[in-house]
Amino acid sequence: MTITLRFAAVGLTAGLLVPGAGTASAAPAAAPSEATWIADVTTVTDQATAYLQQRLSTPGKNAIVLDIDNTSLESYYHPEWTTPAVPPVLALAKLAKADGAAVFFVTDRTELIRSLTKDNLGDVGYPVDGLSMRPLFNFDPAQVNKTKARAAIEAQGYTIVANIGNNTTDLDGGHAERTFKLPDYDGALS
Ligand SMILES: [Mg+2]
Repeated sequence: MTITLRFAAVGLTAGLLVPGAGTASAAPAAAPSEATWIADVTTVTDQATAYLQQRLSTPGKNAIVLDIDNTSLESYYHPEWTTPAVPPVLALAKLAKADGAAVFFVTDRTELIRSLTKDNLGDVGYPVDGLSMRPLFNFDPAQVNKTKARAAIEAQGYTIVANIGNNTTDLDGGHAERTFKLPDYDGALS
């Protein structure tokens, strides 16, 4: 029973939680060891931390935006029902929150798994002030949806001081003062 459930969870993760997972590719890119990945992520989050500590010293209705898969959660390395947080990104989110910024998540995951996703983020310790997902029956490119989501956050009066993601589709399109690109290893990490 346990094994069946675990397989079901991993199958759901591969098919639904991680867009693009399992998609055949002519030349699959290779992901490094988890330790190398975390080290590479930390190189970027160290820069983001220094920036946020300085930027958030100026009061305002500030926000940061985080991608979810392989940015906030270890979706590739730990595709479990409750996927662990990426430690340096969790620390960054908590720092931003403590310094008065709202923490918004913008993901290409479908609205169908909103409650599962929101519970996962909360269970592993993220502050969640908003969660933007791919609308049902929407087939627009991820970058289009994500850019619209950031514009909608700004329309609520927020200044997005930092947008952090591991793919260019998370970051292109503007609507953030600064972007921080985590590694995707040529598409190996969604
Ligand atoms: Mg991602």
